[in-house]
Amino acid sequence: KKYVYRFGGGQAEGNKDMRDLLGGKGANLAEMSAIGLPVPPGFTITTEACAYYHEHGDRWPEGLEEQVREGIRHIEQLMGARFGDPENPLLVSVRSGAAISMPGMMDTVLNLGINDQVVEGLARRTNNERFAYDAYRRFIDMFGDVVMGVKHDYFEEVLDALKKEKGVKEDTELDAEALKELVRRYKEVYRQHTGSLFPEDPYEQLYKAINAVFKSWNSERAVKYRQIHKIRGLLGTAVNVQAMVFGNMGERSGTGVCFTRNPATGEKELYGEFLINAQGEDVVAGIRTPKSISELKQIMPEVYEELLRLAELLERHYKNMQDIEFTVQEGKLFILQTRNGKRTGVAAVKIAVDMVDEGLVDKKTAVRDLVEPAHLDQLLHPRFKDETAYKDRVIGRGLPASPGAAVGQVVFTAEDAEAWKAQGKRVILVRVETSPEDVGGMHAAEGILTSRGGMTSHAAVVARGWGKPCVAGCGDIVIDYKTKTFRAGDVVVKEGDWISINGSTGEVILGKEELVEPSLSGDFARFMEWVDEFRTLGVRTNADTPQDARKSVEFGAEGIGLCRTEHMFFEGDRILAMREMILASTLEERKAALAKLLPYQKEDFRGIFREMAGKPVTIRLLDPPLHEFLPHDEKEQEELARALNIPVETVRAKVEALKEFNPMLGHRGCRLGITYPEITEMQTRAILEAAVELKQEGVEVHPEIMVPLVGTREEIEHQRRVIEETAEKVFQEKGDRVDYLVGTMIEVPRAALLADQIAEVAEFFSFGTNDLTQLTFGYSRDDAGKFLPYYIENKILKDDPFQTLDQEGVGQLVRMGTERGRATRPSLKVGICGEHGGDPASVAFCYEVGLDYVSCSPFRVPIARLAAAQAHL
Ligand code: PEP
Ligand code: MG
Repeated sequence: KKYVYRFGGGQAEGNKDMRDLLGGKGANLAEMSAIGLPVPPGFTITTEACAYYHEHGDRWPEGLEEQVREGIRHIEQLMGARFGDPENPLLVSVRSGAAISMPGMMDTVLNLGINDQVVEGLARRTNNERFAYDAYRRFIDMFGDVVMGVKHDYFEEVLDALKKEKGVKEDTELDAEALKELVRRYKEVYRQHTGSLFPEDPYEQLYKAINAVFKSWNSERAVKYRQIHKIRGLLGTAVNVQAMVFGNMGERSGTGVCFTRNPATGEKELYGEFLINAQGEDVVAGIRTPKSISELKQIMPEVYEELLRLAELLERHYKNMQDIEFTVQEGKLFILQTRNGKRTGVAAVKIAVDMVDEGLVDKKTAVRDLVEPAHLDQLLHPRFKDETAYKDRVIGRGLPASPGAAVGQVVFTAEDAEAWKAQGKRVILVRVETSPEDVGGMHAAEGILTSRGGMTSHAAVVARGWGKPCVAGCGDIVIDYKTKTFRAGDVVVKEGDWISINGSTGEVILGKEELVEPSLSGDFARFMEWVDEFRTLGVRTNADTPQDARKSVEFGAEGIGLCRTEHMFFEGDRILAMREMILASTLEERKAALAKLLPYQKEDFRGIFREMAGKPVTIRLLDPPLHEFLPHDEKEQEELARALNIPVETVRAKVEALKEFNPMLGHRGCRLGITYPEITEMQTRAILEAAVELKQEGVEVHPEIMVPLVGTREEIEHQRRVIEETAEKVFQEKGDRVDYLVGTMIEVPRAALLADQIAEVAEFFSFGTNDLTQLTFGYSRDDAGKFLPYYIENKILKDDPFQTLDQEGVGQLVRMGTERGRATRPSLKVGICGEHGGDPASVAFCYEVGLDYVSCSPFRVPIARLAAAQAHL
């Protein structure tokens, strides 16, 4: 029976489909070898051999030993060296490798085959005695630890003692003589703890190592891992034995890493670095400065040519840009590893487009595999020129609440932000948290930093909507509004000091970093066109203003999924009319105040309908608790009293009266429109007057009026009645009508549970997964920042549920709501407009559940488009 599969020399007995028999690593090595990559030769012992070993009291099956010896002869031939031959020694590595990678299996043993004679040969061939003995002592340590179970610590103790004796600090300061001594002492440690001498026979070393791999299959950790992850039906682990190659055998040897294309720009060129006469560790240790790959062209032209050829071969085979580790041993090139290379967003898009143009991949593959949604995020925002340059100046870390980089001078109030901006300064607004009153200052700022609040805090949501960088919930900083300073550890930052924030990573950086602006180049546009060819799920946007609407259309939005009307009330004089409405003590007064708001609202809607001509626009009726619109500090309350010509006590009393213990669960959403139907009337009027007028101007309009926070059928019925009665009035007055829909948000769990009833009244659903998450978990959106980071760090939660949809829990409600709603009304349009609409994993879930569209902030529209296409492919 065949237990050993050989590879090397551009051939292999196995292939990539033999994972069960050869393990993942073995199958991959066979594949690489078979396509002609010069991997160091070797062989794989099958998982069947491992199974036999365990079933037969730790014995090898008949024929295995002979096949292993043949395998070694195969390596010897290809390497032109011999196992155990001091003149020309072959050393090998031994690794485990099951069909599924799992922890608890045996670690790698390197340099197997060294003994007292071989080490001398190795010293001669590398012309480096120190290296040879260092390899030897590492081998004894690794073999003792990994194969024989002698704790690494015992070896470390001896090493530390020797360093003390020699009066040195670093391992690298030990010379060859010292290392020889260390080898003697390591062998003594080995003898003490195993009761036998260190094996000098390379075959004995090899057999012991193979047995150790077999045994590790049944180690406690491995067994446990398989139990937990329900991994069943595997025979055992395979064992990979492979030639060691050395990059430190003189000036015709070396080692390096190289990308098949430039991972920063996407340019088609070999990109990477190498060291002559060095081992992989030397590159990592950073003691010597590596040379750029382009210099290899002069130093070893044949190797460079070969690398170029292999780069093409690899890309054609793997259909992706590759990141290669290579070693040159005496002029001969070996590829140690290849994998899909990490790259920047700019590079990802360029590589995808180029590979299609070069005929390497088709559009479908490019869309599915070559660009990640997160890559697009980088393309749409300014970035720091050098992300590695500032790591020592990071003074705090918060949530990456809104991506992109921003630089500015610190201010602590929204008013200051606006005032400084008016003077032509760039500012970062630093607040404990933000509220709707701050939007002016937030807009004026380059970026926003808060010390409290989560991914759906006000600051985060608003900033994302504008594509403005924001770091939220940065508990590392302590703000003192009185002195206009904040403290981060020992650092005190004053008003006017420069800071930089990275909204993609959550870093807060002291000082002024250099920025580069995004460019939506031709490649981006072409790639996004392909994305839409493979997409079935609709993508809309959450936009509250005509400007945002226009931006979102540029980004490819197919409609507005959520227009939060309250955001319009904070601009200019509108807030005054809004406050007048709230402070009204009679219906007449309230109606009078609402009448002042009407023209503003209508104007906004006209602007939005115009920008979105021909596309659906979902407008949500007033949602937040009224308290949020009132001024809370004394000075502002006085100003308001003066402006409205009423006693300040009245203002104060009203603020007091509107205070709620739990505003998120209080008088908000449709509860407002039901208790004050005149608000719904005014908003409906504004929407439909605008719609009819634009229709008359020849603009195609599709208004969809959305009622928030509905939990019962009666609520939506009530609001629908108010909306319809108002609509009829408007249509009559205007002598014209438009088609419109009335729908509801599903953001209260009860609405999802009773979706069948609600769908009798609602013509569309939009899942408000921010509130739905808040109410399903019982986590306050605005306070969860206090414990969520701890939860995630300690794996109580896998992800922030306000960021990526909790598919297991909240997802059930989305699925159920959709199914039950459509059972009543098969034509029901269903979307999502919570923050999750722009999160790739959540988009995939929405596709799977069968939603009609996702809606997200304008800057996330391209991301959602790509995620939607990938979900479909
Ligand atoms: C939601 O709750 O998911 C939603 C979109 O509404 P808001 O964030 O405005 O509460
Ligand atoms: Mg909501």
